[in-house]
Amino acid sequence: MTERTINIVWLKRDLRLADHAPLQAAEEAGIPYFICFLFEPSTQQHPDWSLRHWQFTYHSLPSMNRGLGSSGRKVDLFFGEATDVFCWALKHYSVRNVFSYQETGTETTWNRDKQVRTILQEHGTQWTEFQRDGILRGIKDRKGWDKKWFDTMHSPGIENRYSMQSLTLKKHPFTPNSNLLKELENYPHAFQKPGESEVCNQLSSFAEERGLNYHKHISKPAESRVSCSRLSTHLAWGNLSVKQAYRFIKHHDQYANHKRPFSAFLQRLKWHCHFMQKFEVECSYEYQCVNRGYESLEHENRSDWLEAWKTGHTGLPLVDALMRCLHETGWINFRMRAMLVSVLCHHLDQDWRRGTNHLARLFLDYEPGIHFTQFQMQAGTTGTNAIRIYNPVKQSLEHDPLGHFIHHWVPELEGVPNAFTHTPWKMELLEQTMCGVKIGETYPCPIIDPLERAKQARKKIWGHRSNPLVRSERARILKTHTRNTSNVAQPAQQI
Ligand SMILES: Cc1cc2nc3c(=O)[nH]c(=O)nc-3n(C[C@H](O)[C@H](O)[C@H](O)COP(=O)(O)OP(=O)(O)OC[C@H]3O[C@@H](n4cnc5c(N)ncnc54)[C@H](O)[C@@H]3O)c2cc1C
Repeated sequence: MTERTINIVWLKRDLRLADHAPLQAAEEAGIPYFICFLFEPSTQQHPDWSLRHWQFTYHSLPSMNRGLGSSGRKVDLFFGEATDVFCWALKHYSVRNVFSYQETGTETTWNRDKQVRTILQEHGTQWTEFQRDGILRGIKDRKGWDKKWFDTMHSPGIENRYSMQSLTLKKHPFTPNSNLLKELENYPHAFQKPGESEVCNQLSSFAEERGLNYHKHISKPAESRVSCSRLSTHLAWGNLSVKQAYRFIKHHDQYANHKRPFSAFLQRLKWHCHFMQKFEVECSYEYQCVNRGYESLEHENRSDWLEAWKTGHTGLPLVDALMRCLHETGWINFRMRAMLVSVLCHHLDQDWRRGTNHLARLFLDYEPGIHFTQFQMQAGTTGTNAIRIYNPVKQSLEHDPLGHFIHHWVPELEGVPNAFTHTPWKMELLEQTMCGVKIGETYPCPIIDPLERAKQARKKIWGHRSNPLVRSERARILKTHTRNTSNVAQPAQQI
């Protein structure tokens, strides 16, 4: 019997039905197709993986299935390696095309894609990978990148239609075990709601209400949870394309009235692609200092300090509050992320690689292309950006002056008066007793002196800037990743 000829749409970080090029291609091809999403054990074994990422993707699918409802179609789930799933599909069907988006992923997903490509080629199956958002594959520098980005954002979105009959799949061995399924189904309330159907509310409430104080609250740990768009998780897993977000805000009827917050938001969408583009071109950001000259910088790497940072027990109230908030909710704002990295790499003098996967696992919006490039920028290993050493006490006083965020996430400090919330170790013993805290017992002594450690870090990093390899790498990085090739190193600043 001849096998049935079909196409496959492989969903990756594009869990939506609208503005979707692979799904459009499958509809237009005019032959039956199935839509698959894979939960791959090899990604689960990678240290950047956490259950919360799979939970968000798993719970993004019902909204797609509802949208596909009238055609009787749904997304088919496979729990297995991509190579095995495609081998199974090629054995049971004559697969003409696989349609997907390009993935700006880690070394694991890149290598998996190479293996899949080989298997598909051996069977004469064409794999078409569409450009994701404004990220270009195969470029060597940034000449013309900005114009292409704006061209992409200003081009109309795809109006997907779903009229092809559904395809009932043959039985396959890629079903999940019941324990995993139970874990996936149990979605924590404190995480953002997943799915394309959530995005519309999120965008409208940001444009009409929440975002009006965007620029004022963007760095405040508590207020930013409302005033920031909170779209990063939806963008990371593709419940929304960057173009959809861009066009929604750019063409919003309140744009002229709210130009400041709206244009700040649009600028950040461009940063989103700018950082991902760096990773697309140089994926060794995951493992290596992008400026190889920083590989020779030595670090203290004290494991007890690392553990205190990871668990939110450094004795620095805002640092601890942020880390505990991340464990529970999966999101903090940009400045607070930058500060956590700054404390790790500068004050605690840890190699940046000791923290990347920890935060990747905690961020619900984990996007490798932004994560590793931003991490290295904040760790000061690019040699092209001003090094910012965030003073955790100053940041706390400026952005959580009344200590609401700290008291919420560090309940040990709840009774501490405002004058000491940011520096509880400065309380006399009697004051500690009066507010029910014993520094060193109920809440840790600070593991470092932030001012002293910042001074040492500044000296160390600034001293390394003239290393010949740092200098030659700086020129290479500027040429590859920016339009500006004449940037000079700037002294480390304390902020
Ligand atoms: C160490 C570190 C790691 C980070 N890791 C991630 C990550 O894994 N995934 C991720 O989406 N963002 C990451 N960011 C960037 C930024 O912190 C988040 O995008 C932002 O806080 C998300 O909140 P929001 O959606 O409310 O953003 P908004 O301020 O509302 O901005 C809108 C969108 O613009 C993009 N964006 C905003 N700020 C930045 C930025 N500085 N760089 C690149 N894109 C930006 C995001 O897609 C965001 O959703 C990281 C930043 C740092 C310092």
